[in-house]
Amino acid sequence: MAKKKKLKLRIDRVILVAIIAIIILFGLYKGIMFAVDQVSGFFAKEKPVQVEQKEKEYIATVVIDPGHGGYDAGANTKNLFEKDITLTTAKAVGKYLENQNIKVIYTRTEDIELHDDKKTDLEMRAAISKTNQAKYFVSIHVNDFDKTTDVSGFEVYTKNDESTALATSVGTYIEKLNYSKNRGIQDGKSLVVLKANTVPSILVELGYIKGKDYNYLSDNQKLEQIGEAIAKGIVDQVHKK
Ligand SMILES: [Zn+2]
Repeated sequence: MAKKKKLKLRIDRVILVAIIAIIILFGLYKGIMFAVDQVSGFFAKEKPVQVEQKEKEYIATVVIDPGHGGYDAGANTKNLFEKDITLTTAKAVGKYLENQNIKVIYTRTEDIELHDDKKTDLEMRAAISKTNQAKYFVSIHVNDFDKTTDVSGFEVYTKNDESTALATSVGTYIEKLNYSKNRGIQDGKSLVVLKANTVPSILVELGYIKGKDYNYLSDNQKLEQIGEAIAKGIVDQVHKK
């Protein structure tokens, strides 16, 4: 009898231990599942939100080349540097084009050169339009003239006949600003940055930095207007073909 009682007591204890073990295990399981949920939830938040991100549909790609940069200041006078004028103008061109669904690639967006060697620098700029299958390449510069300060006017250099329509279009819009005279379309096939290009290319000389154009070229607001004018000339041509 005593033995039986002892056995029953032991069985009761085993059952009790088993029940406690089950409770503990269940608790552990719930705890682990909760933790897993929290952790996966955390990582899910870290992932980028899955929104339909379509690549913006551009109607064309245009390379804008602010002339000079870095060690090469270009033409300069009275603390006014060609490399700064061209960058300000180029950014205004690009801003306008982007708003017209035209993809803009700049050869530089900061005060830097692309290469220590000037010719290589220019060839690298030209290569950007080929790499990106650009429709047009537009280089921006200002003129220097040492002998006289009387000279003024803007002019557009063209790589070849294929580029001349673009040059004319850009020149027409700049002329509307009436800030200086239109010196017309010039043959630019010997200019390295145009010669090395594989797409229709133009080079715009905005004016003469030491001449009558100084007041206009030293005014950032005016440069932005010139930039917009250049952009309008480009947009017209992009839509033509
Ligand atoms: Zn220049």
